[in-house]
Amino acid sequence: MLFPVSALGERHVGTGEYRGMEFFHVNARTIVNKVPASSKMPFDYTINAYRGCSHACTYCFARPTHSYLGLDSGVDFEHKIVVKVNAVEKVRAELRSPRWQGDHIAMGTNTDPYQKAEGKYHLTQGIVRVLAEAGNPFSLLTKSTLVLRDLALLTEAACRTRVSVALSIGTMDREVWRLTEPGTPPPEKRLEAVARLNEAGVRCGVLIAPVLPGLSDSDEQVRAVAKACLEAGAVSVTPVALHLRPGVREHYLKWLSEVRPDLMALHAERFKKGSYQPRADQQRISELVRSVGRPTGWHPSGWRRVTAKAPTTAEDREDSSLKASVAPAAQAAERRRGRVEALQLRPSTEQLRLL
Ligand code: SF4
Repeated sequence: MLFPVSALGERHVGTGEYRGMEFFHVNARTIVNKVPASSKMPFDYTINAYRGCSHACTYCFARPTHSYLGLDSGVDFEHKIVVKVNAVEKVRAELRSPRWQGDHIAMGTNTDPYQKAEGKYHLTQGIVRVLAEAGNPFSLLTKSTLVLRDLALLTEAACRTRVSVALSIGTMDREVWRLTEPGTPPPEKRLEAVARLNEAGVRCGVLIAPVLPGLSDSDEQVRAVAKACLEAGAVSVTPVALHLRPGVREHYLKWLSEVRPDLMALHAERFKKGSYQPRADQQRISELVRSVGRPTGWHPSGWRRVTAKAPTTAEDREDSSLKASVAPAAQAAERRRGRVEALQLRPSTEQLRLL
Protein backbone atom coordinates (compact mmCIF):
# COMPACT_ATOMS: atom_id res chain seq x y z
CA MET A 1 0.00 0.00 0.00
CA LEU A 2 1.42 3.41 -0.98
CA PHE A 3 -0.67 5.26 1.60
CA PRO A 4 -3.88 4.60 3.53
CA VAL A 5 -7.22 5.47 1.96
CA SER A 6 -7.73 8.14 4.65
CA ALA A 7 -4.76 9.99 3.13
CA LEU A 8 -6.12 9.83 -0.42
CA GLY A 9 -7.18 13.43 -0.47
CA GLU A 10 -10.39 15.40 -0.60
CA ARG A 11 -13.35 13.10 -1.28
CA HIS A 12 -16.12 14.20 -3.67
CA VAL A 13 -19.29 12.18 -4.08
CA GLY A 14 -20.55 12.00 -7.66
CA THR A 15 -24.00 13.34 -8.48
CA GLY A 16 -26.16 13.24 -11.60
CA GLU A 17 -24.47 11.16 -14.28
CA TYR A 18 -21.64 10.47 -11.82
CA ARG A 19 -23.93 9.11 -9.12
CA GLY A 20 -22.43 6.04 -7.46
CA MET A 21 -18.90 7.26 -8.01
CA GLU A 22 -16.43 8.88 -5.63
CA PHE A 23 -13.55 11.08 -6.66
CA PHE A 24 -10.46 11.59 -4.54
CA HIS A 25 -8.62 14.79 -5.38
CA VAL A 26 -4.86 14.57 -5.05
CA ASN A 27 -2.02 16.86 -6.05
CA ALA A 28 0.63 14.88 -7.87
CA ARG A 29 4.24 15.68 -7.03
CA THR A 30 5.21 14.90 -10.64
CA ILE A 31 3.03 13.95 -13.60
CA VAL A 32 5.35 12.87 -16.42
CA ASN A 33 6.50 9.43 -15.32
CA LYS A 34 9.77 7.93 -16.45
CA VAL A 35 9.43 4.32 -17.49
CA PRO A 36 12.01 2.19 -15.66
CA ALA A 37 15.15 1.59 -17.71
CA SER A 38 14.66 -2.15 -17.34
CA SER A 39 11.35 -1.97 -19.22
CA LYS A 40 11.23 -3.02 -22.86
CA MET A 41 8.45 -0.57 -23.65
CA PRO A 42 9.24 1.52 -26.74
CA PHE A 43 8.55 4.80 -24.99
CA ASP A 44 10.21 6.38 -22.01
CA TYR A 45 7.50 8.60 -20.57
CA THR A 46 3.85 8.25 -19.61
CA ILE A 47 1.14 10.41 -18.06
CA ASN A 48 -1.75 8.99 -16.09
CA ALA A 49 -4.11 11.60 -14.70
CA TYR A 50 -6.51 9.08 -13.14
CA ARG A 51 -6.26 5.95 -11.06
CA GLY A 52 -9.14 3.50 -11.20
CA CYS A 53 -11.46 3.28 -14.21
CA SER A 54 -15.25 3.33 -14.51
CA HIS A 55 -15.09 1.34 -17.73
CA ALA A 56 -14.96 -1.66 -15.40
CA CYS A 57 -13.47 -4.18 -17.82
CA THR A 58 -13.39 -7.55 -16.13
CA TYR A 59 -9.91 -8.37 -17.44
CA CYS A 60 -8.31 -4.99 -16.68
CA PHE A 61 -4.61 -5.36 -15.91
CA ALA A 62 -4.64 -2.11 -13.87
CA ARG A 63 -6.98 -3.42 -11.17
CA PRO A 64 -4.24 -4.56 -8.79
CA THR A 65 -2.77 -1.04 -8.74
CA HIS A 66 -5.78 0.11 -6.69
CA SER A 67 -4.70 -2.13 -3.84
CA TYR A 68 -1.52 -0.03 -3.55
CA LEU A 69 -3.87 2.74 -2.42
CA GLY A 70 -5.61 0.62 0.17
CA LEU A 71 -8.65 0.21 -2.11
CA ASP A 72 -9.91 -3.05 -3.54
CA SER A 73 -9.33 -4.06 -7.12
CA GLY A 74 -12.98 -4.94 -7.75
CA VAL A 75 -15.80 -2.48 -7.05
CA ASP A 76 -13.50 0.23 -5.65
CA PHE A 77 -11.42 0.22 -8.84
CA GLU A 78 -14.57 0.96 -10.85
CA HIS A 79 -16.18 3.51 -8.54
CA LYS A 80 -13.43 5.23 -6.52
CA ILE A 81 -11.35 7.27 -8.88
CA VAL A 82 -8.21 9.11 -7.85
CA VAL A 83 -7.99 12.39 -9.75
CA LYS A 84 -4.67 14.24 -10.06
CA VAL A 85 -6.31 17.62 -10.13
CA ASN A 86 -3.08 19.53 -10.75
CA ALA A 87 -2.12 17.35 -13.73
CA VAL A 88 -2.39 20.09 -16.38
CA GLU A 89 -0.35 22.68 -14.53
CA LYS A 90 2.26 20.04 -13.65
CA VAL A 91 2.63 18.98 -17.29
CA ARG A 92 3.07 22.60 -18.32
CA ALA A 93 5.75 23.13 -15.68
CA GLU A 94 7.58 19.89 -16.41
CA LEU A 95 7.66 20.50 -20.16
CA ARG A 96 9.21 23.93 -19.52
CA SER A 97 12.06 22.43 -17.55
CA PRO A 98 15.41 22.75 -19.34
CA ARG A 99 15.92 19.06 -18.58
CA TRP A 100 12.93 18.05 -20.70
CA GLN A 101 14.05 16.83 -24.14
CA GLY A 102 10.71 16.61 -25.91
CA ASP A 103 10.35 12.83 -25.83
CA HIS A 104 7.22 11.03 -26.87
CA ILE A 105 4.66 10.72 -24.06
CA ALA A 106 2.22 7.82 -23.98
CA MET A 107 -1.19 8.18 -22.34
CA GLY A 108 -3.58 5.33 -21.59
CA THR A 109 -0.83 2.97 -20.49
CA ASN A 110 -2.42 2.42 -17.12
CA THR A 111 -6.04 3.58 -16.93
CA ASP A 112 -8.19 5.12 -19.63
CA PRO A 113 -7.52 8.85 -20.18
CA TYR A 114 -11.06 9.29 -21.58
CA GLN A 115 -12.91 7.37 -18.88
CA LYS A 116 -16.10 8.87 -17.43
CA ALA A 117 -14.25 11.13 -14.95
CA GLU A 118 -12.67 12.96 -17.88
CA GLY A 119 -16.12 14.31 -18.79
CA LYS A 120 -16.10 16.08 -15.42
CA TYR A 121 -12.45 17.04 -14.94
CA HIS A 122 -11.13 17.64 -18.50
CA LEU A 123 -7.60 16.74 -17.44
CA THR A 124 -6.71 14.77 -20.58
CA GLN A 125 -8.06 17.64 -22.66
CA GLY A 126 -5.86 20.10 -20.77
CA ILE A 127 -2.81 17.86 -21.08
CA VAL A 128 -3.36 17.42 -24.83
CA ARG A 129 -3.62 21.19 -25.19
CA VAL A 130 -0.34 21.72 -23.36
CA LEU A 131 1.42 19.02 -25.41
CA ALA A 132 0.05 20.50 -28.63
CA GLU A 133 1.19 23.99 -27.69
CA ALA A 134 4.66 22.64 -26.91
CA GLY A 135 4.73 20.54 -30.10
CA ASN A 136 5.54 17.53 -27.95
CA PRO A 137 4.76 14.16 -29.59
CA PHE A 138 2.26 11.92 -27.82
CA SER A 139 -0.06 8.95 -28.17
CA LEU A 140 -3.41 8.08 -26.62
CA LEU A 141 -4.99 4.70 -26.05
CA THR A 142 -8.67 4.61 -25.10
CA LYS A 143 -11.89 2.65 -25.25
CA SER A 144 -14.02 5.77 -25.15
CA THR A 145 -15.74 7.87 -27.77
CA LEU A 146 -15.22 10.84 -25.47
CA VAL A 147 -12.00 11.28 -27.41
CA LEU A 148 -14.17 12.87 -30.14
CA ARG A 149 -14.91 15.77 -27.82
CA ASP A 150 -11.27 16.74 -28.40
CA LEU A 151 -11.26 16.10 -32.15
CA ALA A 152 -10.48 19.70 -33.12
CA LEU A 153 -7.73 19.90 -30.54
CA LEU A 154 -6.20 16.60 -31.66
CA THR A 155 -6.36 17.66 -35.29
CA GLU A 156 -4.53 20.84 -34.46
CA ALA A 157 -1.98 18.90 -32.41
CA ALA A 158 -1.42 16.50 -35.33
CA CYS A 159 -0.50 19.48 -37.48
CA ARG A 160 2.15 20.53 -34.96
CA THR A 161 3.67 17.24 -33.86
CA ARG A 162 3.42 13.49 -34.10
CA VAL A 163 0.13 12.35 -32.63
CA SER A 164 -1.37 8.91 -32.71
CA VAL A 165 -4.52 7.50 -31.20
CA ALA A 166 -5.56 3.88 -30.79
CA LEU A 167 -9.02 2.67 -29.89
CA SER A 168 -9.15 -0.61 -28.06
CA ILE A 169 -11.94 -2.78 -29.50
CA GLY A 170 -11.78 -6.42 -28.49
CA THR A 171 -14.91 -7.69 -30.19
CA MET A 172 -17.98 -6.71 -32.22
CA ASP A 173 -20.09 -9.20 -30.27
CA ARG A 174 -22.49 -7.04 -28.26
CA GLU A 175 -23.27 -9.78 -25.76
CA VAL A 176 -19.59 -10.24 -24.95
CA TRP A 177 -19.08 -6.47 -24.86
CA ARG A 178 -21.91 -5.98 -22.34
CA LEU A 179 -20.65 -8.84 -20.21
CA THR A 180 -16.99 -7.86 -20.11
CA GLU A 181 -16.74 -4.07 -20.58
CA PRO A 182 -19.95 -2.74 -19.02
CA GLY A 183 -18.78 0.87 -18.68
CA THR A 184 -17.55 1.37 -22.24
CA PRO A 185 -19.30 2.67 -25.36
CA PRO A 186 -20.48 -0.03 -27.81
CA PRO A 187 -17.86 -1.35 -30.25
CA GLU A 188 -19.55 0.14 -33.31
CA LYS A 189 -19.46 3.60 -31.72
CA ARG A 190 -15.74 3.16 -31.12
CA LEU A 191 -15.30 2.23 -34.77
CA GLU A 192 -17.08 5.42 -35.75
CA ALA A 193 -14.55 7.27 -33.62
CA VAL A 194 -11.71 5.53 -35.50
CA ALA A 195 -13.19 6.65 -38.82
CA ARG A 196 -13.76 10.23 -37.68
CA LEU A 197 -10.29 10.62 -36.23
CA ASN A 198 -8.64 9.39 -39.43
CA GLU A 199 -10.92 11.54 -41.59
CA ALA A 200 -9.83 14.52 -39.55
CA GLY A 201 -6.15 13.69 -40.08
CA VAL A 202 -5.41 12.13 -36.70
CA ARG A 203 -3.73 8.76 -37.18
CA CYS A 204 -5.89 6.21 -35.44
CA GLY A 205 -5.43 2.46 -35.22
CA VAL A 206 -7.17 -0.31 -33.34
CA LEU A 207 -5.97 -2.76 -30.76
CA ILE A 208 -8.20 -5.81 -30.86
CA ALA A 209 -7.60 -6.26 -27.20
CA PRO A 210 -7.93 -8.45 -25.44
CA VAL A 211 -9.28 -11.41 -27.37
CA LEU A 212 -10.94 -13.58 -24.73
CA PRO A 213 -10.76 -17.41 -24.77
CA GLY A 214 -14.16 -18.99 -25.31
CA LEU A 215 -15.87 -15.61 -25.39
CA SER A 216 -14.52 -13.66 -28.35
CA ASP A 217 -11.81 -15.82 -29.93
CA SER A 218 -13.73 -17.88 -32.49
CA ASP A 219 -12.48 -17.54 -36.07
CA GLU A 220 -15.70 -15.76 -37.04
CA GLN A 221 -15.53 -13.29 -34.17
CA VAL A 222 -11.90 -12.37 -34.78
CA ARG A 223 -12.45 -11.98 -38.53
CA ALA A 224 -15.55 -9.86 -37.89
CA VAL A 225 -13.75 -7.33 -35.70
CA ALA A 226 -10.70 -7.20 -38.01
CA LYS A 227 -12.96 -6.60 -41.01
CA ALA A 228 -14.85 -3.88 -39.17
CA CYS A 229 -11.55 -2.15 -38.32
CA LEU A 230 -10.48 -2.28 -41.96
CA GLU A 231 -13.76 -0.81 -43.10
CA ALA A 232 -13.49 1.96 -40.53
CA GLY A 233 -10.14 2.97 -42.02
CA ALA A 234 -7.92 2.07 -39.07
CA VAL A 235 -4.27 2.81 -39.86
CA SER A 236 -3.16 -0.22 -37.89
CA VAL A 237 -4.80 -3.28 -36.43
CA THR A 238 -3.09 -5.22 -33.69
CA PRO A 239 -4.64 -8.24 -31.99
CA VAL A 240 -3.73 -9.04 -28.41
CA ALA A 241 -4.71 -12.34 -26.79
CA LEU A 242 -5.82 -12.22 -23.17
CA HIS A 243 -3.08 -12.59 -20.61
CA LEU A 244 -3.64 -12.96 -16.89
CA ARG A 245 -0.90 -11.88 -14.58
CA PRO A 246 -1.13 -12.33 -10.81
CA GLY A 247 -3.68 -9.98 -9.31
CA VAL A 248 -5.79 -9.78 -12.46
CA ARG A 249 -5.86 -13.53 -12.81
CA GLU A 250 -7.67 -14.07 -9.50
CA HIS A 251 -10.23 -11.34 -10.24
CA TYR A 252 -10.96 -12.54 -13.79
CA LEU A 253 -11.23 -16.22 -12.96
CA LYS A 254 -13.50 -15.53 -10.00
CA TRP A 255 -15.77 -13.47 -12.24
CA LEU A 256 -15.67 -16.14 -14.95
CA SER A 257 -16.56 -18.90 -12.51
CA GLU A 258 -19.72 -16.93 -11.69
CA VAL A 259 -20.84 -15.95 -15.19
CA ARG A 260 -19.41 -18.72 -17.40
CA PRO A 261 -18.37 -21.69 -15.26
CA ASP A 262 -18.35 -23.79 -18.41
CA LEU A 263 -15.19 -21.92 -19.54
CA MET A 264 -13.11 -22.67 -16.44
CA ALA A 265 -11.60 -25.86 -17.84
CA LEU A 266 -10.56 -24.05 -21.03
CA HIS A 267 -8.82 -21.36 -18.98
CA ALA A 268 -7.09 -23.92 -16.76
CA GLU A 269 -5.67 -25.43 -19.94
CA ARG A 270 -4.76 -22.15 -21.68
CA PHE A 271 -3.07 -20.63 -18.62
CA LYS A 272 -1.54 -23.74 -17.09
CA LYS A 273 1.96 -22.48 -17.81
CA GLY A 274 1.51 -18.98 -16.41
CA SER A 275 0.18 -15.60 -17.46
CA TYR A 276 0.22 -16.11 -21.21
CA GLN A 277 -1.63 -18.45 -23.52
CA PRO A 278 0.31 -20.93 -25.65
CA ARG A 279 2.08 -19.35 -28.60
CA ALA A 280 -0.04 -21.38 -31.04
CA ASP A 281 -3.22 -19.77 -29.72
CA GLN A 282 -1.74 -16.29 -29.99
CA GLN A 283 -0.51 -17.01 -33.50
CA ARG A 284 -3.91 -18.27 -34.61
CA ILE A 285 -5.46 -14.93 -33.68
CA SER A 286 -2.70 -12.94 -35.39
CA GLU A 287 -3.02 -15.02 -38.53
CA LEU A 288 -6.79 -14.50 -38.63
CA VAL A 289 -6.29 -10.73 -38.52
CA ARG A 290 -3.60 -10.93 -41.20
CA SER A 291 -5.85 -13.05 -43.40
CA VAL A 292 -8.47 -10.30 -43.36
CA GLY A 293 -5.98 -7.55 -44.12
CA ARG A 294 -3.91 -9.34 -46.75
CA PRO A 295 -6.32 -9.07 -49.72
CA THR A 296 -6.65 -5.34 -49.16
CA GLY A 297 -2.94 -4.73 -49.62
CA TRP A 298 -1.98 -4.15 -46.05
CA HIS A 299 1.58 -4.55 -44.91
CA PRO A 300 2.35 -8.30 -44.68
CA SER A 301 2.39 -8.03 -40.91
CA GLY A 302 -1.28 -7.08 -41.21
CA TRP A 303 -0.71 -4.26 -38.79
CA ARG A 304 -0.37 -1.14 -40.81
CA ARG A 305 -1.98 0.99 -43.44
CA VAL A 306 -0.93 4.59 -43.76
CA THR A 307 -3.80 6.89 -44.63
CA ALA A 308 -3.34 9.82 -42.30
CA LYS A 309 -3.73 13.21 -43.92
CA ALA A 310 -1.95 15.35 -41.38
CA PRO A 311 1.72 16.24 -41.93
CA THR A 312 3.40 13.64 -39.80
CA THR A 313 7.02 13.66 -40.90
CA ALA A 314 9.71 16.27 -41.20
CA GLU A 315 9.47 15.94 -45.00
CA ASP A 316 5.74 16.59 -44.90
CA ARG A 317 6.34 19.64 -42.84
CA GLU A 318 8.72 21.04 -45.45
CA ASP A 319 5.63 21.63 -47.54
CA SER A 320 3.40 22.62 -44.75
CA SER A 321 2.41 26.12 -43.93
CA LEU A 322 2.37 24.88 -40.39
CA LYS A 323 6.09 24.31 -40.39
CA ALA A 324 6.71 27.45 -38.41
CA SER A 325 4.49 26.22 -35.65
CA VAL A 326 6.60 23.14 -34.96
CA ALA A 327 8.05 23.88 -31.57
CA PRO A 328 11.64 23.15 -30.55
CA ALA A 329 10.48 20.31 -28.32
CA ALA A 330 8.95 18.61 -31.34
CA GLN A 331 12.09 19.13 -33.38
CA ALA A 332 14.15 17.52 -30.65
CA ALA A 333 11.74 14.65 -30.50
CA GLU A 334 11.85 14.29 -34.28
CA ARG A 335 15.48 13.33 -33.98
CA ARG A 336 14.32 10.29 -32.04
CA ARG A 337 11.56 9.65 -34.50
CA GLY A 338 12.60 6.14 -35.45
CA ARG A 339 11.95 5.00 -31.94
CA VAL A 340 8.57 6.67 -31.81
CA GLU A 341 7.56 5.07 -35.09
CA ALA A 342 8.42 1.73 -33.60
CA LEU A 343 5.91 2.51 -30.89
CA GLN A 344 3.19 3.59 -33.27
CA LEU A 345 3.52 0.84 -35.80
CA ARG A 346 4.76 -2.24 -34.07
CA PRO A 347 3.95 -2.46 -30.39
CA SER A 348 6.37 -4.63 -28.47
CA THR A 349 5.27 -7.58 -26.44
CA GLU A 350 5.99 -5.58 -23.31
CA GLN A 351 3.80 -2.72 -24.51
CA LEU A 352 0.99 -5.10 -25.37
CA ARG A 353 1.09 -6.46 -21.84
CA LEU A 354 -0.26 -3.11 -20.82
CA LEU A 355 -3.40 -3.29 -22.89
S1 SF4 B 1 -10.78 0.89 -20.24
FE1 SF4 B 1 -8.71 0.12 -19.90
S2 SF4 B 1 -8.15 0.95 -17.92
FE2 SF4 B 1 -10.34 1.13 -18.04
S3 SF4 B 1 -11.15 -0.72 -17.07
FE3 SF4 B 1 -10.99 -1.12 -19.28
S4 SF4 B 1 -8.99 -2.08 -19.57
FE4 SF4 B 1 -8.98 -1.07 -17.55
